[in-house]
Amino acid sequence: MDAHKEIPVTTEFTGIPVSPGIAMAGTFRFKHLDLGMLKDHGFPVENVSDEITRLERAITESAEQVGRLQADAPEHTGVQVAEIFKAHAELLQDEPLLSRIRSLVSEKGVNAEYVLANEIAEIESRFSSINEEHLQVRLLDIQDVLHRLLRNLLDIEHVRTNPLRRIDHRVVLIAETLLPSDMTLLDLKHIAGIVLEQGSAASHVAIMARAMRIPAVFRIASIGSFVRNNDFLIVDGSEGRVILNPSKETIDLYEKSKERKKKVPVKTDQKNRCSTKDGKPVRLLANAASELEVENAFIAGAEGIGLFRTEFYYMSRRRLPTIEEETAYYRQVLSICKKRPLTLRLLDLGADKTLPYLRMPPEQNPQLGVRGIRYLLGNGEIFSNHLVSLVRACAVAPVQLLIPFVSRVEEIVMVRDRIDSIAREEGVARERISIGMMLEVPAVIFSLPSFMGLVDFISIGTNDLIQYTFAADRDHGQLEEYRHNALSVIFRMVKYAVVNAHAARKGVTVCGEIAGDPRYAEILVGLGVHSLSMQSDSIAAVCSALGRKSYKELVEDAERFILSPLDKGLFPFPA
Ligand code: PEP
Ligand code: MG
Repeated sequence: MDAHKEIPVTTEFTGIPVSPGIAMAGTFRFKHLDLGMLKDHGFPVENVSDEITRLERAITESAEQVGRLQADAPEHTGVQVAEIFKAHAELLQDEPLLSRIRSLVSEKGVNAEYVLANEIAEIESRFSSINEEHLQVRLLDIQDVLHRLLRNLLDIEHVRTNPLRRIDHRVVLIAETLLPSDMTLLDLKHIAGIVLEQGSAASHVAIMARAMRIPAVFRIASIGSFVRNNDFLIVDGSEGRVILNPSKETIDLYEKSKERKKKVPVKTDQKNRCSTKDGKPVRLLANAASELEVENAFIAGAEGIGLFRTEFYYMSRRRLPTIEEETAYYRQVLSICKKRPLTLRLLDLGADKTLPYLRMPPEQNPQLGVRGIRYLLGNGEIFSNHLVSLVRACAVAPVQLLIPFVSRVEEIVMVRDRIDSIAREEGVARERISIGMMLEVPAVIFSLPSFMGLVDFISIGTNDLIQYTFAADRDHGQLEEYRHNALSVIFRMVKYAVVNAHAARKGVTVCGEIAGDPRYAEILVGLGVHSLSMQSDSIAAVCSALGRKSYKELVEDAERFILSPLDKGLFPFPA
């Protein structure tokens, strides 16, 4: 039965608002291929020569697409895109590979998808024990091409291997789920909005959508089965509403509201630093993951970059960067900062942030696995090259380096030792480098005094602190309430960290998403946090909220928020 015929012309869906703004465009559906299913479910075809014709058509179509992509290839972050498609075009003429697929279809008399999916699995297993980088790149090319063939056989649009580059108009992307690595492949020009069936507001994909200013609504179950490619949608990312095939009146209404929103000025006055009503300064910094976001941060009035997520640079590439490439990238970021503070966080790989070109073994509980500093300490060469690049960048201007996912004192000791020796070898003055730690694992809070002698500052990552404190996976859409209720627990942890850090004369920044919410920013400042790092679009609102209250009022409000009468006396603050 066709679901499309049953629904009224205009249909409204409600999900969770994840990234504000309004998008209006035709849809583009994306599905991750379920290779396992295709691999296990072959079926006999009635007419083998028809099946071969279908396969040939998919090959021709794939070759035409690759040809177009090669011709239109833009210069992409650190990648010669045209070169990649040249390699793909060659693979689509690789007679041994294609003949093998043709003969398997003919000999077995089965559907071509089944043969292709098994061929991909076979090639992957052959490559699985090989760690040489050029062969891993070759594997990516083969996977890319065979996936394209599969998609053309199945007629599913895709972004994973070739991110919407064949689309020459703006679309709303509809998918069941997306990964951070999918997001880095998107061509921003063409993505008007994102609607997902799953996902959560605290996920990295949500953070990236906000950072890229793409209106997004998540958790609209089964929307993919109601929508076809090129259906017209309105995405209201502020209200969490999606309207399929809206009426002309509704479109006009949204057009007008879009216009009104455009006219709201962004505060860009960089001379007037943010302060409370009675003049206590609060440093507002921005989170960023690309050069463009750094530029936008300063336009929005950020005093510096409080969190630069370096893993997204790695994710936007097809292979590991060389030390020269990576150093040049950070120097470019530094040059945009023009002497304003920059905090570069060491690679926070693992969990949902994986690199397609690195073999990262699957884990049962990736959020509790080899993530952040654990991954780096276990992968010496990647870590060394990364640190050398960072230290070389520090030769140009002082930089703060931030260690992600710290849970043990030994991790800091090891990182410090490495940085000390690399700085010596590179002839970079060690005083140029400050070392800080992310506080996002609850265990660290209660041993903070042991860490304080080893770091210059701490940065509280409440996104993960909330996830690990409440045992509520940040990507899990059904656990949203755990992230919003009982936040007083998190604020007590923040207060405890602030008291300890200040006792040791160390700076504290909060860089989790709550720092960009004016209601929570007020509480954080009231708890003694004088440095907040957030998405740059939140800076104006946070600054004006803080300016409406005196510091004393903020402190009183914050204490009321975190201390219920029952807790007084039990709460373990140092005096
Ligand atoms: C955090 O955990 O709060 C944080 C800022 O880091 P990320 O969101 O990149 O995990
Ligand atoms: Mg984190």
